Amino acid sequence: MRIEIVTDNIVVMYAPKELELAINTAPTTAPVTCIALPERLIIVDTGIFVDVLANFRKEMEKKYNRKISHLLLTHLDWDHMFAMEVFEDVKTVASEHCIENMKYNLTEGYLAKENLVEFANNRYPKHKEMRDLVINAKLFLPTISVKDELRIGPEENSLLFKVVGGHTKGSSIIYSSSEKTICVGDNLLECYPPLQHEFNNPISIYKQLEELDIEHVIPGHGKVVSKDYIIKTRKYYEDLEVFLKKSFSEDLSINQIQEHPQLPKYFAQGSPGWKFSCRPTDNWLQYLIEDFYETLK
Ligand SMILES: [Zn+2]
Repeated sequence: MRIEIVTDNIVVMYAPKELELAINTAPTTAPVTCIALPERLIIVDTGIFVDVLANFRKEMEKKYNRKISHLLLTHLDWDHMFAMEVFEDVKTVASEHCIENMKYNLTEGYLAKENLVEFANNRYPKHKEMRDLVINAKLFLPTISVKDELRIGPEENSLLFKVVGGHTKGSSIIYSSSEKTICVGDNLLECYPPLQHEFNNPISIYKQLEELDIEHVIPGHGKVVSKDYIIKTRKYYEDLEVFLKKSFSEDLSINQIQEHPQLPKYFAQGSPGWKFSCRPTDNWLQYLIEDFYETLK
């Protein structure tokens, strides 16, 4: 277990480095966040490692001498919620849209028992331990469904759970104004390029977040960053938008765009621990440019 103290009341945990696999690092780079409110603890996202998470729970309840009351889920992608069984006894919160989507996936999508085996085999053909974690995940639907937003805790320390969309249609952020900290889920990635399942121009989402008083940003994957990272991500999209619009007037093909010397460079590219995606064969930066190109066209 790797722990990072963000503030006196916020601790972030990552799965141990030894579990990091070259073929898919997504679950090991996904943080689990513990937020201490007066008289209780809140957890944001779970990762997939049940034993590691159970230990983290024990440690946090001991450190703060408080019990966990809620598990808040930024979105319901597998790498952020497969260890949810550790919090079966607390209130679980996700957006209405994410819950609807999970309901579908549990019955006919990739989370249905028979499909999950195939999913595990595809992701981890060489790692039985990982396959077992995926196949044996005890999944259940969150008990509290949020349409727009929900406040948790006493007014002066309250947490805001807000549905913003972006990475997935029901993706949400969790914001603590007293700790000046935000959990943004996969709407902001520190160790990979941005990724959206159904591309929508996210500039307005970043602008909305920038209005908040923020010192610490807990991303969906990677290290805790500052507000500057949100601003840089927004600016990257804005520069890319300008470049793509210009390329239309010059009639450039998507291949010419991808190779173009003036194509805006993603600011975090090449920083320590950075990868083009969580799998060696994918390049999310290329997908992003392609998707944005298609949307603007
Ligand atoms: Zn993720």
